Amino acid sequence: MAGAPRIYFDNAATTPIDPRVRAALQPYLDDCLGNPSSLHVEGRTARAAVENARRQVAELVGASPHGVVFTGSGTEADNLALAGVTRAFAGQPVHIVTSAIEHPAVRETCAWLAQREGVSVTYAPVKSDGIVDPDAVAALIDRETRLVSIMAANNVVGTLQPVREMARVAHTHGVLFHTDAVQAASCVPLDMQRDGIDLLSLSGHKLYGPKGIGALVCGDSVPLTPVIHGGGQERGLRSGTENVAAIVGFGEAARLCAATRGEEAARLVQLRERLIEGTRTRVPNAYVIGDLYRRLPGHVCLGFAGQEGESIKLMLALDEAGVAVSTGSACSAHKASEPSYVLTALGFDAFRARGALRITLGRFNTEGEVDRFLDLLSRAVGTLRPITTRAGAVAGVCS
Ligand code: PLP
Repeated sequence: MAGAPRIYFDNAATTPIDPRVRAALQPYLDDCLGNPSSLHVEGRTARAAVENARRQVAELVGASPHGVVFTGSGTEADNLALAGVTRAFAGQPVHIVTSAIEHPAVRETCAWLAQREGVSVTYAPVKSDGIVDPDAVAALIDRETRLVSIMAANNVVGTLQPVREMARVAHTHGVLFHTDAVQAASCVPLDMQRDGIDLLSLSGHKLYGPKGIGALVCGDSVPLTPVIHGGGQERGLRSGTENVAAIVGFGEAARLCAATRGEEAARLVQLRERLIEGTRTRVPNAYVIGDLYRRLPGHVCLGFAGQEGESIKLMLALDEAGVAVSTGSACSAHKASEPSYVLTALGFDAFRARGALRITLGRFNTEGEVDRFLDLLSRAVGTLRPITTRAGAVAGVCS
């Protein structure tokens, strides 16, 4: 279909900036030059904009504005949560319970804390449906556990984790609960007070806001030691002059998500079901990885029985045909020849763990794009190596 506009189905990697967000932040690039720490009019204008955005972000997740600490990314928010809690318990043993499918922002920080700061870390297993069992987490908590960190939604397979139950389990044992809500926050209602979440990580570019801005949202009286030192901005928890335009954009993006989340999730579920149904008809060896329903509204992770080793070729063929999807997470796109640790944790063998195609729909996608994608997908699958009869290749781990 020469000349057809490209289809962007990689919203889990990053979302396009919403035009309303762009309009809100633009004046803070063009005209508002103040440093929010300055006392003059320009400084006070910038400060007011930052505080307004803080309220908007807090409202998205049912928190107090006081608890919002702006960071440079979701990754930094995860680092601050894990390292900040660890360091708040300086001089005492620290044990962290997390899951086997966390984003590298949590996984690698845990590994670093284990190696360099003597923290012990235990990884809760995940079931083959991509969901972590709160009882499995409970069984891993011991007297030295200070923090349980379980993501709200997985970035590779899209499964939603039972966050409220996880928080309850942690609190029953007197332990803090952190969730990485970077993927979930745009369309899953999270309320830190109702759900009992002590620390929650967010990222601007996953909710139609700018890149390079995130937040760690903390409940009252959560012990946290800063990991970045300097001028004492963000209540001393994250020094560095605030990125005012990005913060304003992030705030507006959060406001829009809070206002439209319900209807947007319903629309995305319909698009997702259309895509899954269409795939079933057009590509019979395709299967959905992870629980069919307890997943992000716009997230589909597909395996292709017997052709699992080919997902990178499929992704590139689709790219050539005008569609952006991914083979897993954006961070692992350059390690496509390695099996995904997330799929391995779900019980996939090394061959099948290379074989996922992640299709993630978002606010600006349409039914017409889904239909066009189905044509392009079935054509692209047809060009792949023929389906093998390799033992175990079609075993049904997935829904
Ligand atoms: N956590 C999850 C679940 C993610 O999917 C991502 C990004 O893909 C991050 C954290 C990191 O966020 P950022 O790109 O803002 O550093």
